[in-house]
Amino acid sequence: MKNHIIFFSGGKSSFTVAHLIKKRFPNDNILLYFTDTLYEDEDLYRFIYEASDKLELPMLYHSVGLTPPQLMAKERFLYNSRVGNCSKKLKMEPAAKFFKKGIKPNIEKWYNEKFLKAPIVPLSEGFSINTSVYFGIGWDEMHREGAIKKNWEPFDVQMPLIEEVIDNEEILELYNIRRPRLYDMGFAHNNCKGRCVKAGQGHYKNLLMKDEKTFQEVKEHEIVLSEYIRYTKQPQIKNGKCKDYLFEDVYKFLSEGIKSDKIKNIIENADYLASTRRLFGTDSKGKPINKAYSFIKIMTLNELEKKPIQCDIWDIGGCGCFVDYGNENELFNY
Ligand code: SF4
Repeated sequence: MKNHIIFFSGGKSSFTVAHLIKKRFPNDNILLYFTDTLYEDEDLYRFIYEASDKLELPMLYHSVGLTPPQLMAKERFLYNSRVGNCSKKLKMEPAAKFFKKGIKPNIEKWYNEKFLKAPIVPLSEGFSINTSVYFGIGWDEMHREGAIKKNWEPFDVQMPLIEEVIDNEEILELYNIRRPRLYDMGFAHNNCKGRCVKAGQGHYKNLLMKDEKTFQEVKEHEIVLSEYIRYTKQPQIKNGKCKDYLFEDVYKFLSEGIKSDKIKNIIENADYLASTRRLFGTDSKGKPINKAYSFIKIMTLNELEKKPIQCDIWDIGGCGCFVDYGNENELFNY
């Protein structure tokens, strides 16, 4: 009996892949594998559990236990449309560690385990034999194929939607399952509640128009993280000679939404802080710490909100979570 691991993101394409594999190999051991960034849309959970029920496939849920903003605060780095670690640290690394070495992340849950036909054994204990891993990427993302295959060696890596063009909506109809609401709102992916740090101006403009509450939350995250990172670039904080007096407040805000007086002050004075004033002096290389950091190119979300008409609506960007390897050399040697 073969093992088939489907990297199940909560998107329509990964559902189609699961359907295809179930149809092709009804008697094999098939697993839906989901890694949670704890930053997802509520409707994504409805979709993945309903998918597992209706496909009658087991789902393994893993989470590192951190959200992308929490990770950025810990790393003192604002991920953006050019560079970011969240898909790597919160999705790909836990997956690679588990399937290659059997190392479990902080949170593990099973759903519909009764449908599992054979135990999941890591590569280090012989799991590669007769195991294929599947990604729901299509022809429009086939430039990622080489890097993904390299990173998942020695597993047999399959991307059936590159060869077959299938209408995801038709597959969802077959199972009478409602597509995730983010697609109805005009987003191309069902990732991180439409607030992917790698998204572009058009994506965030759409978020502003369709879900202003979430836009305001992510805008405040950006403001606070940006000021926190600028603060930590001061040489005395960076080299540990001076205590970091902001981290606890920042982390509590990003985790629980609690706004201490320090956080309120940062948010209320966002325009002033983002100006080119040398508020925090210079960094360890002598460069002025005078520029606000932003997720999207050219502007902060605070600026985008003030002049949405001037933003580039065709700059959509977005995450290739689970498949977003930098290049073929970025191997996970677990
Ligand atoms: S969807 Fe975007 S924000 Fe979420 S984990 Fe992936 S890269 Fe990060």
